[in-house]
Amino acid sequence: MDLDVKAAAPGKPAAPPAACTFADILKHPDIAERFARVRKYFYLRESTYDMTRRCNIRCDGCYYYEGDKQNTKDNVDPESWRALFRAEKARGITFVVLAGAEPALVPALLEACHAEIPLGAIASNGLLHIPDSVGYRIHISVWGDDATSERVRRAKRMLERQIESYAGDPRAVFVYTFTRENIAEATGVVEQLARHDCKVTFNVFSATEGYEGTLTHTPTSLAQTRQAMLSLLDRYPEHVLFSPYSAAAHTDTLSLHDLYSCPYPRRNQGQFGLGRSFRQYRSDLTWIREAACCVPDTDCADCRHYAAGSAIVTARMNRHVQSPDQFRAWLDYVDTYLAVWVQGYTKSPNLCTVPIAPSLALAAASETRR
Ligand code: SF4
Ligand code: SF4
Repeated sequence: MDLDVKAAAPGKPAAPPAACTFADILKHPDIAERFARVRKYFYLRESTYDMTRRCNIRCDGCYYYEGDKQNTKDNVDPESWRALFRAEKARGITFVVLAGAEPALVPALLEACHAEIPLGAIASNGLLHIPDSVGYRIHISVWGDDATSERVRRAKRMLERQIESYAGDPRAVFVYTFTRENIAEATGVVEQLARHDCKVTFNVFSATEGYEGTLTHTPTSLAQTRQAMLSLLDRYPEHVLFSPYSAAAHTDTLSLHDLYSCPYPRRNQGQFGLGRSFRQYRSDLTWIREAACCVPDTDCADCRHYAAGSAIVTARMNRHVQSPDQFRAWLDYVDTYLAVWVQGYTKSPNLCTVPIAPSLALAAASETRR
């Protein structure tokens, strides 16, 4: 994620809309208030770090165990990580995403990172409790009910154990990944999470390059996923951190890259925005520009990942200024992303209650090129 929208300061949209100006849009009090709230976070600059190549389970379709990033030697020295994070801070990184394989297996490294850059999130399978002293957001991956997790992730009582570890923990956000096979069971899972007062957001399974398993979406399953997301958002507004535009953007038949053009270095070798600042470190503290994005080895043509969207969609403010409702939808997306990723940020009610078509943003990009 990276709110890299400096080029579009108020009153200076890059692509002047035909029907109204950006200044006109900002005259709407609800929009002005929300824009003022989210723009305080435009300073966030992200990089991601694989904390270890080890994991305590093995999931079908895992992006980490695809490609060669797993073939590294873990650096397990907290002082090396502290030194890296000091250097990261010096080059302007303000938000870190700690992933891997499973970061909860290396708590001393998490402590070391948190001591240097205190804003960030950890992607975990949630089976081990991360010490409370590590004040990052913790994203707990949920791929279905316990029967499905036992089959796909080869772990028993997964949701029950995740809830035992993290219910009542203000850092925790459960991330339900919709695959082609688990759409119907999302209702029961979200109901169970809401009963335990857990926050939940949604992800869409995005196949790795060469993946041939059964989890990849079809146009039909994407449409069903969108309906399920909207229905659950409607039923559990206190527990589901999401927006109608988030649902629309992540379930379109076009991938996020095809809709919005991905700014990560893997797709944007130019030296601007995320292409310049973002790095994806492996667990031996090396990084490779050509491979750098938040979900390396994922197939860009199938990329609908929530972490990818948090950078790709938020960076495209200029493509969402054609109407007040389109900009409200973008603000809802950013508000959702901040609530999911930034500890202490509270989600506001969505401003736009209908799923605005992402193709409008694609059309705005074409207009700009003309
Ligand atoms: S828990 Fe995460 S890192 Fe571990 S195998 Fe599953 S998807 Fe991969
Ligand atoms: S996989 Fe997604 S985030 Fe990564 S480069 Fe491709 S489109 Fe961008």
